[in-house]
Amino acid sequence: MKNCGKNDEGSCVKCGTCNTVCPVYLATGNEIHTPRGKQHLKSCIEQDEVASHYADIFSKCLLCGACLEACPRNLDTPELVITVRSELPRLSGLSFLKYMSRKALVHPSLLSGLSRIGTAANRLLGEWLPQDSGLRLRLQGFEQEAFKLPAAGYIEKLKAELPEDKEQQESSADPGISFFTGCLANHLQPEIAETTQFLVAKTTGCKAVVPLKQTCCGMAALAAGRIDEARELAKKNIMSFEANDFPILTSCSSCYYHLQSYHELLADDPEWRERAARFAGRLQEFSTFFLEKFSEISDALLPTDTVAAKEVLYHDPCHLRFKLHITREPRQLINLLPGIELQELPDGPRCCGQGGLFQVAHPDLARQVQDRLIADYAKLSAQTVLTACSGCLLQWQLGLAAGGNDGKAEHLAIFIARHLQ
Ligand code: SF4
Ligand code: SF4
Repeated sequence: MKNCGKNDEGSCVKCGTCNTVCPVYLATGNEIHTPRGKQHLKSCIEQDEVASHYADIFSKCLLCGACLEACPRNLDTPELVITVRSELPRLSGLSFLKYMSRKALVHPSLLSGLSRIGTAANRLLGEWLPQDSGLRLRLQGFEQEAFKLPAAGYIEKLKAELPEDKEQQESSADPGISFFTGCLANHLQPEIAETTQFLVAKTTGCKAVVPLKQTCCGMAALAAGRIDEARELAKKNIMSFEANDFPILTSCSSCYYHLQSYHELLADDPEWRERAARFAGRLQEFSTFFLEKFSEISDALLPTDTVAAKEVLYHDPCHLRFKLHITREPRQLINLLPGIELQELPDGPRCCGQGGLFQVAHPDLARQVQDRLIADYAKLSAQTVLTACSGCLLQWQLGLAAGGNDGKAEHLAIFIARHLQ
């Protein structure tokens, strides 16, 4: 990871390098949305009374990290944005849907409520919102199959199968492996968790243990400036994985990024900082983990005649691309699959516009960001988009469906598993 400079007043030399990579600025062309502008405004906020307009400006950031990567002074604008959001409580609940989404991720029982609200809102508002409104498209998203809640979440089903006093399944394997599912694979698309388990069993001979008290990684809470809430979620997750010292596999790239930064989130608490560092040391990124496993048993992968899609695009989640620089491993993993042609976008990878819950608060702007990406994707012959980030996956699924594109977006686990059946 890059060593970041201090976001102190005067550190920014206003060179504008960050502007050239900021997806929000590239979509709007408005200087007010630049990382440079946010650096400048932060110093104003410290000096003057805050106008609500400032709050809106700081909400318009995807926290993608592109500016941090580009800045010659290593200034961490995403961190600055989170700090400002935490100082401006009204930014935490920019819209009802955003507020409810974040709450739902923390409290699973509310998720079904969110789905119902989204569906109802679509029926109520869908008639009079403009056809090209991002909000209309977002609400329509709740009607799609990918967003229908399953009868039971993945962990909920496991709980139902275990005796009441058990907090996780036993592992007969040595060494075993633990599994952090993330909210999408737990609540909305449990087939991702089930398929990841299938891949673990295929490559290690054992099932991963799933601590039943794990919860949302807390990235959405942090992005909304709820730092205390993010810390509480981090502590819950650390505790729930302390029953053993197995490596911890995640099926979501963004969860992986956030989980491995827990020690920074808990830096002011010596006891929790150390527990967080031990936790982080056990984490396994999805594509890196399976690249190693499948490299050893590549004979088990079937030729491409047995699967529908032969040309695919891999979508780089920003958290892996800019912050952790994990871009080769997913591609190497896909290239292990016989007969698959991995294609690249003409101008290289782009942000999908998801940005935590950015797309719920600013659906039109998120769509503007995504439109450029989908236009580039349409130039390819690839019919399938692969990624291992829950947020990016949802954003792609929504964007492709809303734009009437025939392509589909799949989690890497699902695509790989098809080569094993
Ligand atoms: S690249 Fe860094 S120094 Fe240059 S304008 Fe952006 S934040 Fe300021
Ligand atoms: S984190 Fe991304 S969206 Fe936010 S200011 Fe930086 S480049 Fe722009």
